[in-house]
Amino acid sequence: MRLLIKNLKSLVGIQRPDVRQLWGLEMQQLSQIDNAWLLIEGEMIADFGEMQNCPPDSLADQIIDATGKFCFPSWCDSHSHIVFAASREEEFKMKIEGKTYAEIAAAGGGILNSAAKMATATEEDLFSAASERVKDVIKQGTGALEIKSGYGLSYETELKMLRVIKRLKETFPIPIKATLLAAHAIPKAYANNRSEYIDMIIDKLIPEVSREHLADYVDVFCEEGFFTLQETKQILDASAKYGLKPKIHVNQLSVSGGVELGVQENAISVDHLEETNEAAIQALSKQNTIATLLPSCSFYLNIPFANAREMINQQVSIAIASDYNPGSTPSGNMNLVVSLACIKLKMTPEEAINAATLNGAAAMEISDNYGSITKGKVANLFLTRNMSSVAFLPYSFGQNQQELIILKGNVYHG
Ligand SMILES: [Zn+2]
Repeated sequence: MRLLIKNLKSLVGIQRPDVRQLWGLEMQQLSQIDNAWLLIEGEMIADFGEMQNCPPDSLADQIIDATGKFCFPSWCDSHSHIVFAASREEEFKMKIEGKTYAEIAAAGGGILNSAAKMATATEEDLFSAASERVKDVIKQGTGALEIKSGYGLSYETELKMLRVIKRLKETFPIPIKATLLAAHAIPKAYANNRSEYIDMIIDKLIPEVSREHLADYVDVFCEEGFFTLQETKQILDASAKYGLKPKIHVNQLSVSGGVELGVQENAISVDHLEETNEAAIQALSKQNTIATLLPSCSFYLNIPFANAREMINQQVSIAIASDYNPGSTPSGNMNLVVSLACIKLKMTPEEAINAATLNGAAAMEISDNYGSITKGKVANLFLTRNMSSVAFLPYSFGQNQQELIILKGNVYHG
């Protein structure tokens, strides 16, 4: 099957095959060809170029006339908690009324609220609710996704969540990476014996997750009131023995030293980073470990935004992701994430789009096959409505410009 897209106003996000990740100022370069065509053969991008060299229509089985439209590589959302049992809008109202995090937690809110609902949810219900959310984000342009466990907080329920993620992987035509986040919070039952919970993760859960191939990565919420640096290191070291690489939550609420630990432990990414100092940014300078920034979480929680400009100056590799979850970011819309990266992180549209595509793919170790318009990569991309320029996409915040979604070379109808 050959699909020819012709008369594109612009083909955006073209990259050489050997470029798998971008650092600092490199992110300002977003290559595009105006007045372009793109040929897809089977699942792959076969070729592209300027319209003056467009192959004849007879070469294709299907032709799309994309006059006035832009073509982008799909968003690669490398941080989400899209499997959850119930929404938490009652906490949303409490926050508006001025209740503190502690008061909300005392009223049964927070991560432990999601965990309580997760414990009683069936695998089938979780799968069908998460499937609806995955369909929604695909329609909003997401073409690769990472999903974490972390609302189970017990041996059985963490495994249940990971099995749901495995089913999602098998169901949708996008790559999905699974991350074990059992160390998301200390469950109530272990409040006075936290080491027992950590021992359970290390001695029972990680070996079983490995045996059933249920996760690609391990994550820890390294933060005051959650898991200490020492505990984080203990869990990462235990996971490394089973080949689970780290992608960790660090420096959301305070500077903890977690960024430096992540770099030392060869983390694929250190995520959040709303709070950083010079040492944390220096630790990431020119490293493979990616700083994954989550601006829609800062926006929703009214907490500080990450210092992206200083990170870019220091040659840090940045990805942006949704953090889609029921508590702090009940949205997986990557178009809004890209807009907020421009408005609040002061990233240029080019930097934000690179962070949401190629570097997002790198934060899931799939940038050899996804994240840019490159011959031989999988054809996961979207066509926009008629637009005036690349910058129109983040400029038109709160709106989605996707008109047609193509996954594995096929038009996606959901
Ligand atoms: Zn998160």
